[in-house]
Amino acid sequence: MPSSESSPSGCEKASAGRGAWHAMEVSEARADLSATGPLTAQAVSGRLEKYGHNRLPEAKRRGPLARLGNQLKNFLIYVLITAAVITALLGHWVDTTVILAVVIIQTLVGFIQEGKAEQALSAIRHMLAPRAVVVREKGQQKIDAAELVPGDTVILEPGDRVPADIRLERCHNLKIEEAVLTGESEPVDKTTRVQSAEAVLGDQLNMAFSGTMVATGTGRGVVVRTGVETEIGRISGLLQDTATLKTPLLEQIDRFARYLSLIIIVAGLVIFGGGLALSGLPLRELFMAVVGLTVAAIPEGLPAILTITLAIGVRRMATRHAVVRRMPVIETLGAVSVICSDKTGTLTRNEMMVTAAIVAGKRLDVEGQGYEPDGDIREGKYVTPGSPLLDELARAAALCNDAHLEHHEGTIRVAGDPMEGALKVFARKAGFDPETDGRQWPRTDEVPFDAEYRFMATLNHDHHRHGVIYVKGAPERVLDMCTSMVADSGDTSSLDREAWTIAISELASEGLRVLALARRPAEASQNILAVEDVEDGLELLGLVGLLDPPRQEAIQAILDCHQAGIRVKMITGDHAMTASAIGQRLGLKNTVRVITGTELGQLDEDELKQVAGEVDIFARTSPEHKLRLVEALQGLHGVVAMTGDGVNDAPALKRADVGIAMGVKGSEAAREAASVVLLDDNFASIAAAVREGRTVYNNLKKAIAFMLPINGGESISLVTALLLGLSLPISALQILWVNLVGSVILAMTLAFEPAEPGVMKQPPRPRNESLLAGFVVWRVAFVSLLFLIGIFAAWYWAMSRFGDEAVARTLAVNTLVAMEVFYLFAVRYLDTASITLRGVLGTPIVLLAVGAVILLQLLFTYLPLFHQTFGTAPLTPGALAFAASAGVVVLVVLELETWLRRRWRRKI
Ligand code: ATP
Repeated sequence: MPSSESSPSGCEKASAGRGAWHAMEVSEARADLSATGPLTAQAVSGRLEKYGHNRLPEAKRRGPLARLGNQLKNFLIYVLITAAVITALLGHWVDTTVILAVVIIQTLVGFIQEGKAEQALSAIRHMLAPRAVVVREKGQQKIDAAELVPGDTVILEPGDRVPADIRLERCHNLKIEEAVLTGESEPVDKTTRVQSAEAVLGDQLNMAFSGTMVATGTGRGVVVRTGVETEIGRISGLLQDTATLKTPLLEQIDRFARYLSLIIIVAGLVIFGGGLALSGLPLRELFMAVVGLTVAAIPEGLPAILTITLAIGVRRMATRHAVVRRMPVIETLGAVSVICSDKTGTLTRNEMMVTAAIVAGKRLDVEGQGYEPDGDIREGKYVTPGSPLLDELARAAALCNDAHLEHHEGTIRVAGDPMEGALKVFARKAGFDPETDGRQWPRTDEVPFDAEYRFMATLNHDHHRHGVIYVKGAPERVLDMCTSMVADSGDTSSLDREAWTIAISELASEGLRVLALARRPAEASQNILAVEDVEDGLELLGLVGLLDPPRQEAIQAILDCHQAGIRVKMITGDHAMTASAIGQRLGLKNTVRVITGTELGQLDEDELKQVAGEVDIFARTSPEHKLRLVEALQGLHGVVAMTGDGVNDAPALKRADVGIAMGVKGSEAAREAASVVLLDDNFASIAAAVREGRTVYNNLKKAIAFMLPINGGESISLVTALLLGLSLPISALQILWVNLVGSVILAMTLAFEPAEPGVMKQPPRPRNESLLAGFVVWRVAFVSLLFLIGIFAAWYWAMSRFGDEAVARTLAVNTLVAMEVFYLFAVRYLDTASITLRGVLGTPIVLLAVGAVILLQLLFTYLPLFHQTFGTAPLTPGALAFAASAGVVVLVVLELETWLRRRWRRKI
């Protein structure tokens, strides 16, 4: 009977009476909690109000002031502040003000970007909230663990993180790993028996504690404490929050920026000395020039832009149902060269239906739609009249089953395993109503399904204590356990193994998932079922074939992966022939050769490597095979993404370069071991994540290739001028201006850049490719040179035309900015033509940024206030045209370079 009270007096104990629960009988505990049955919705909401949500308070986020302070703790900012202090001491107040303005703007931009990045992360944390399986008034359901209240009934399965402190009332082989609480690394055997009141935490064997992990077996119990009242809540009190946006790449860039700054400062000092000796400039002017040089060369904005690019990538992946748990994986995702995927539910829809059955040598076809209970069972053309054997098969299918069919707004949904749901529907079509008829045969005990032995068994007794054991599982496994079969009449007869093996192949080669069902009579007195009870002497009832169609979107995603040079491999626990038939429909490359787990076990390292590379379908595998396959594929220099859902998949998920856990059917253990969690378990989301990974990597590359030449071009111009004793074509303050415009406005747009059209048409990048090597270095050097030429051309052209240094500098700045704007268009498409309609109009934010830059440049050139501050002067339209044409030239030259590079690459 459901418990419906809202403020039970006994429930006080849930928060106050710590320590007593393990010394009580379950019935006593339930009575104390006023929870003798499943809780009603009303009781739950009353208790939620009283005890609060079942979660630990989160570690305090850093406040805005701390975050702002953190922005100032940046080496590049120190350099700027030092420059501000020195200019102030020299009395160059305008310079001081501008430098400080730059410090403030950079800090604010960094602050806002970091805030956005943190927002992205906390949204993701919410998506990964732990869940719990609870039995309430409406039956079994999966809920957010935060919604649990004292008195709730919770089911525990392998790989679950225990969601609250629980008094166990049913255990089956239940072992729980309690290291987080007790430090004990061996999983602890649990029981339901009452324990001594003095038992310490590690000896309270009838309790499951919040935060510990179910290693094996299953269990069920009543929640006695939630939230901070739990044992783990008392110890830590806080939720550990470890997610940061630091990735190896970002650290590498941070280090690079720091070294670069040091080199620049030392170079500045050398140039100061050299300038004193060679240039003949007055000391003060020379000093200001060196300050300008230092500021010019340091890429202040780069780290902030890279951080926001990663954060945006993480957010985009989340909208494609792939949630990143460990940040470094975003970089790896783009380099993935092999994806190993589970079949059921990831490549297929996991919406199962029994379409065929084989009993006593007869094939039966089952009609109907999805989980709808209507549908005939036919033998050839005729509806079968039914038989004692079919009745028995239906009863086995319904009783050896943990799923429930729920009616929800006119549709039927399955709570539990969809395959078991389909078996219940099948039972109903064969005339056995799991609800009413099932009640005649309550379950006494069970051997839960385990992927290792691939079957499940139940012990049922009717009300007259007639006992029967039902077994269902992988057909070759069950066949091994049978010694006879049941004939149409219901009597047993001898077993023709060969005929059954052919029948299994027949169903499997149609792409059906095949299950065998068997039974064995049990004594009235038998109360406990063990694996040994079913290993031999079973009577085979028959086979059922379940249809689980491939996901349409997975077929397309596999095609996309193949075009992107990524090999897709299917690793399944299913039968080899079923796997092969499904593999063909999915469009896998090699569907001819299928390797089973047993065959894998017999291969040595070298053979395994060869097989792992060639074969695309691995059937009847266990989790250990996944680990071996990951290692073999990595041995072939592959960057491997591997999916998993069970607790035993954790080692393979950890070992893979990208471990991907299933968010819907995956266990908490798999989710925690993985670096990416799929919210929809869909293969297409993996392909989407890889695409986003490649895009993020390209955008990082673009941001670096865009920003460094600006610094490069500016600094080489200044060094050249200083060493040749020429006037500076751009002043220190003007350089600060250009850097701000360039990094804050233009480069920012690159973080939002969508994927290039060809992003999934190229092979994956090599695992160890460095961002600061090869193409990027070449581009930085080449564009720096172009900028250098542009700056000096502008300077000399203006000097010869107007003979005014202020005008010439203003033009040099405008020319540099114009070149940056055009370069932005070129850098957005690294490998394809940029002068296209899409290139020009593709991303609205780019046009907005360009508009803003033009406006700022007009102010810079024509506003008197800016004339005083930056030493600028108005330009003639002809001069502006000069600046614009310099930009066009840069774009055309780079377009030519891209074209040549592509031709050259095609040749080699
Ligand atoms: P994948 O690894 O692609 O998800 P899978 O779901 O078939 O494939 P497992 O869950 O390991 O892999 O199942 C392996 C086999 O065990 C199945 O092919 C089926 O024959 C059997 N099996 C699966 N679930 C059950 C169950 N609940 N009861 C009995 N047998 C089952």
